[in-house]
Amino acid sequence: MSSEVLFAPMAFAKYDENETLPAKFDRLLQQSGLKEKVNGKKIAIKMHVGDGSGYSTIPPIFIRKLVSFIKENGGQCFITDHALINRKPENRGYTESVLGCPVLEACGYFDKYFYEKQVDFKSFRHVDVAGLIHDADMMIDFSHVKGHGSCGYGGACKNIAMGCVTTRTRHEIHSLEGGLVWDADKCIHCEACIPSCNHYANRFDKDGNYRVNYHHCTLCQHCLKVCPTGAITLDAHDYADFQMGMAICTKTVLDTFEPGNVYYINVLTQITALCDCWGMTTPALVPDIGIMASDDIVAIEQASLDAIKIENLIKEGIPEGMELSGEGHLFRQLHGKDPFMQLDALQSVGLGTREYETVIIK
Ligand code: SF4
Ligand code: SF4
Repeated sequence: MSSEVLFAPMAFAKYDENETLPAKFDRLLQQSGLKEKVNGKKIAIKMHVGDGSGYSTIPPIFIRKLVSFIKENGGQCFITDHALINRKPENRGYTESVLGCPVLEACGYFDKYFYEKQVDFKSFRHVDVAGLIHDADMMIDFSHVKGHGSCGYGGACKNIAMGCVTTRTRHEIHSLEGGLVWDADKCIHCEACIPSCNHYANRFDKDGNYRVNYHHCTLCQHCLKVCPTGAITLDAHDYADFQMGMAICTKTVLDTFEPGNVYYINVLTQITALCDCWGMTTPALVPDIGIMASDDIVAIEQASLDAIKIENLIKEGIPEGMELSGEGHLFRQLHGKDPFMQLDALQSVGLGTREYETVIIK
């Protein structure tokens, strides 16, 4: 059986405001079935608020529209993300006065407000569900779609598995990837790896050896990617474990909601090679596509990936030093990880189906 995915396309037939994405987003919300669902509920709108001088996260106009829609239909809501404090969401227009609702730290100011759930997958043991996510009646998983160094693809699943939990849980999932290995013989001590780390996790010690503080390291692989000699590698490339960890985490978070109380909206604009957590925006990889929505996380991820076609590649969007491998999906070609593996993992834990039908919002 297939799931329904609403699609408001960026493409337009004539120069008319009513043909543009904000107007189509209004119509998508009207057709989404959310109207009845939000009434009387306290709703967490989970976003990735970006970082640094990035400007490719979801534009405030769409967030404000969603917030207004919820309020007009009898719901209460707030925007939330993990580790907001250092990311300065106000720099991207994410403030209560602009968006119409509070912007709140999901795990509290000290990353200590969470509900611990036990899981048992290899070294992965704890899903610390963010307190504000757990306490909400409903969640709208509002995701900006882009590439991601660890997952290959960052969309609805990544927004939950890496964003609705504590730092401890993120580390446990990342630890499924394996650690970094530094080869002293290949290192030319150019030090390009040091500023590439957004987490202040790497350094050279006084003897010139590369050191990683795994408490801070997210295994994002930024240092690995900028290294001109390939001196830094991962010691295990078992991304199946990592993707299964992401799926288990996502399911554990979603299980805290009553059935029917999670909805997914993927924004496919400014689709960059790298995640919004890099704190900068690089040119888009493909032309803007539009906005998708569904109550099936697997279906919406599949539809989003299918819409990102290699034949639409804008080559200026490929960051310097990265090249296409020539094999598989555009994100696989860039990051070496098959993004569909994540969907198989989500499907295997019972979260939805890769079969979908698209309903075009006109
Ligand atoms: S993998 Fe990422 S977080 Fe870890 S040391 Fe390298 S750049 Fe820093
Ligand atoms: S980027 Fe690579 S070559 Fe340069 S210092 Fe770091 S590990 Fe060594």
